[in-house]
Amino acid sequence: MLRIGLTGGIGSGKTTISNLFHSVHNIPVIDADEISRELLLPSGKAYHEVINLFGSSCVLESKQIDRKFLREKIFINEDLRILLEQIIHPKVQAEITSQIESINSRYCIIVIPLLIESNMQSIVDRILVVETNKQNQLNRVATRDRCDKDHVEDIIKSQIDSNERLKHADDIITNNGEPEDLILQIRQLHQKYLALAI
Ligand code: ATP
Repeated sequence: MLRIGLTGGIGSGKTTISNLFHSVHNIPVIDADEISRELLLPSGKAYHEVINLFGSSCVLESKQIDRKFLREKIFINEDLRILLEQIIHPKVQAEITSQIESINSRYCIIVIPLLIESNMQSIVDRILVVETNKQNQLNRVATRDRCDKDHVEDIIKSQIDSNERLKHADDIITNNGEPEDLILQIRQLHQKYLALAI
């Protein structure tokens, strides 16, 4: 099975696009963010290690790990970010590999927001980058998350530069127009991936 890694900056449209691959073309989607969230649940494989790293103040009354607390800590502390990634990334990678084994399809889409940053290129066969201009990123994320644009700008700055990301792309989707414009680009890629998967 051909493994397509879908990546892009914050708010570039990864979820929108992977939903379309699934709903229009019935293509299975694996979502690294969803896996990370599950790892942090009390029943998850990273729960205790993460609490050991951040201390009990990262645990909410509900026993859930406070992901906002983690995000804020790693945003200002590079060492903590690296240590957290050393816990999370190998487990995400193992879970992706295990999910791939259970899928029966010509190809699948694996959404990995930090595919390049976390050096996970080797678990995919092709890299599909979704590219959106910064203005759209700022507007769309600020609207979606009801946050201010400065905050979004800070996150964009913490991610790999978009030109750098594009250097790793085998395929590119441009998401600067209407959501409907994505349908045609996705249909063309779907045909390409089916042909490559033979
Ligand atoms: P994140 O990196 O935060 O996980 P993402 O890359 O998955 O984000 P989406 O959630 O798909 O991005 O899109 C960000 C927001 O922009 C969403 O609210 C989505 O509905 C909206 N959006 C995506 N594409 C378009 C478009 N072409 N026109 C208008 N809004 C869009």
